[in-house]
Amino acid sequence: PYVLTERGVLRYEQVTYPMEERGLQFGDGVYEVVRLYNGTYIWLEEHLDRLYRSAAAIRLSVPFAPEELAARLEELRRLNDVHEDAILYLQVTRGSFPRAHAFPAENRPNLYAYIEPMARKRNEMTRGVRVIVTKDVRWEYCYIKSLNLLPNVLAKQEAVERGAFEAILHRDGIVTEGSSSNIFLVKAGTVYTHPATERILNGIVRTKVKQFCGELGIPFMEEAFSVHDLAQADELFLTSTTSSIIPIIQVDDTTIGSGQPGAVTQSLQAAYQTATQPAARN
Ligand code: PLP
Repeated sequence: PYVLTERGVLRYEQVTYPMEERGLQFGDGVYEVVRLYNGTYIWLEEHLDRLYRSAAAIRLSVPFAPEELAARLEELRRLNDVHEDAILYLQVTRGSFPRAHAFPAENRPNLYAYIEPMARKRNEMTRGVRVIVTKDVRWEYCYIKSLNLLPNVLAKQEAVERGAFEAILHRDGIVTEGSSSNIFLVKAGTVYTHPATERILNGIVRTKVKQFCGELGIPFMEEAFSVHDLAQADELFLTSTTSSIIPIIQVDDTTIGSGQPGAVTQSLQAAYQTATQPAARN
């Protein structure tokens, strides 16, 4: 396989890093995950926009200009001959330098991007999943898609150990988002989600759900809800690039609504399917 780096496309075996790499030692970098359906990038421009915004927020420069990066990612896809469902992982770090907290004097960021096959989560999308609720112990700048994922890793591990699909995070009883997803609550036909403040990552699928609601005439409120509200919801669902839209049918030990995916969630799933056509065919 081929990997895109700041030096251009290289073979997988050629990509190695010294121990003193700022992504490894400090998590000093940002990343993106982009979906491909049948070998076509989905919402690439939106993801690249967010990448440059995340980078700017930590005063990091991305090695290529946006149009050039998009062109090189297409080259990467072509060289790897990707025609199936897959994901692109892309990260940019502040580079390889002797370990010191402050920025290096030289601007020499590292970038790598690779594509790996990833099937759609069809069972979860159809049947729905169970989630747990746990404390959001992250820093104040969760809108930056940074490599510092330790709190997210610990929350997801807790979910896995408790047999759940995702960990839903709360700050002082207010639900923020999932460990690697955004969460939505449906009550009396209205869709609610945490506003896109510094306390959550504004997911690309989240912004699409907002758009679909507008198109479908479903009231959409960017208004936070509490852990207590979860149990009273008619429907809950989560979104992310790797999960698309997945119904939540149980929170800890509480069944949500009828215990089946709800009608609003299903209409948004249908809108997602339509929006990602023809790439998402079959
Ligand atoms: N929130 C967090 C913390 C995430 O890590 C992710 C993605 O993995 C999301 C939300 C969903 O974002 P997107 O829809 O852009 O994948």
